[in-house]
Amino acid sequence: MAIDFSFPPEIEELRTRVREFVDGVVRPIEAEIDDEDRTTLRGAVIKMRKAAIERGLWLPHMPAEYGGMGLGHVAMAMVSAEAARSRLGPWAMNCQAPDEGNMHTLLHWGTHEQKEKYLRPLCEGRVRSCFAMTEPEVAGSDPTLIRTRAVLDGDDWVVNGHKWFISGARGAKFAILIARTEDDPEIPQAANSAFLVDLPIDGWNDVREIATMHGSSGHSEIVIENLRVPRNRMLGGRGQGHKLGQYRLGPARLAHCMRWIGQAEIALEMTVDRATKRFAHGSMLSEKQAIQWMIADSTMELYQSKLMVLHAAYRIDRGLDFRSEVSMAKHFVANALNRIIDRAIQVHGALGYSHDTPLAHMAQQARWARFADGADEVHQMRIAQRTIAAWQEKGSLTTATGDLPL
Ligand SMILES: Cc1cc2nc3c(=O)[nH]c(=O)nc-3n(C[C@H](O)[C@H](O)[C@H](O)COP(=O)(O)OP(=O)(O)OC[C@H]3O[C@@H](n4cnc5c(N)ncnc54)[C@H](O)[C@@H]3O)c2cc1C
Repeated sequence: MAIDFSFPPEIEELRTRVREFVDGVVRPIEAEIDDEDRTTLRGAVIKMRKAAIERGLWLPHMPAEYGGMGLGHVAMAMVSAEAARSRLGPWAMNCQAPDEGNMHTLLHWGTHEQKEKYLRPLCEGRVRSCFAMTEPEVAGSDPTLIRTRAVLDGDDWVVNGHKWFISGARGAKFAILIARTEDDPEIPQAANSAFLVDLPIDGWNDVREIATMHGSSGHSEIVIENLRVPRNRMLGGRGQGHKLGQYRLGPARLAHCMRWIGQAEIALEMTVDRATKRFAHGSMLSEKQAIQWMIADSTMELYQSKLMVLHAAYRIDRGLDFRSEVSMAKHFVANALNRIIDRAIQVHGALGYSHDTPLAHMAQQARWARFADGADEVHQMRIAQRTIAAWQEKGSLTTATGDLPL
């Protein structure tokens, strides 16, 4: 039986190096940042990135050919969880969303010329990118409804439409833009195509950054008017926008889970630390059963999150179908994260509600995890469909429940 939950020594050594880097370099620089002033943020990220490169901790998810560390998804799960113990850890190592997903997408779908022009500078940390799919007028959960339209005119595609919540659009050097190109596709999922759009450019109007529950956010609303994109800037083939989105979102969702595990772990550590130091009604909080139940629930949920993410990453690394496992992990970890942070706030009382700890900020950030990149209910719908199909087609639920040897 080859079920081995240990990492090879070199990956364990890498864990120590990432932890030391985050604690020793990233956190102290992060503490000096003024959130209202983006120039201090930029300077801080540059400083962290230089230190990451010096320590050989740059671009963990990309192959060596692009200057990366060439880690598989299982090793990446560990690195991302470690890096995300700090808000800027993934930025320091150049594995932050949405660039990380865009790099994977370009690596898989880009032509040689597209990779040299867009992927290489992104990997070198010289530029940033964004991914533009969601629209205010139609449900983002169903990309077959996309209305932004691209029409061929000579050697250019002319695009008109409306996007919003485009993370990192301001300051991005290019966008991967999803638009409808096919009027009569064989299946509704084959109506859209993806385009590489150089930014800034006429016709791409960044009208505002949307204020959200975690502040003015870096997520833009874009009005697209007669934007011309050369023919050779299509990424993948005509009608492959949906496939490309799915290819991008599978590992990208798991990468979110990995970062959420880092955040959940911090919240649980803070819960335990506070509970063992706070005295009320004759004993420490940690001695009260109600608090122990919270700690136990958070511990079990963190453990389940780690197992689910590692197993989904294992399947991706082995080229196995990972859709169900990623869906289940994304749903579970997103919800566990929200509950674990909420319990941490409860145990901290007023302190947890204040900005004197990172918990309030973490709670605001965590809320979007339950609907972005696949809403809870959409994942539940897909999970149930696969379970029903497995039963009807095979008379067994094994493939729907992780295809585990149990
Ligand atoms: C912080 C943040 C960053 C983002 N970054 C990007 C980005 O960079 N690029 C980009 O393109 N988009 C981005 N998004 C948008 C995100 O991908 C969408 O919010 C998501 O796809 C959901 O689409 P929607 O908001 O239109 O919600 P809708 O699709 O309208 O869904 C709303 C709700 O309806 C329910 N629902 C939907 N379908 C079903 C169903 N089949 N069964 C039952 N209930 C259902 C769910 O409860 C869901 O939460 C970002 C969003 C946030 C909050």
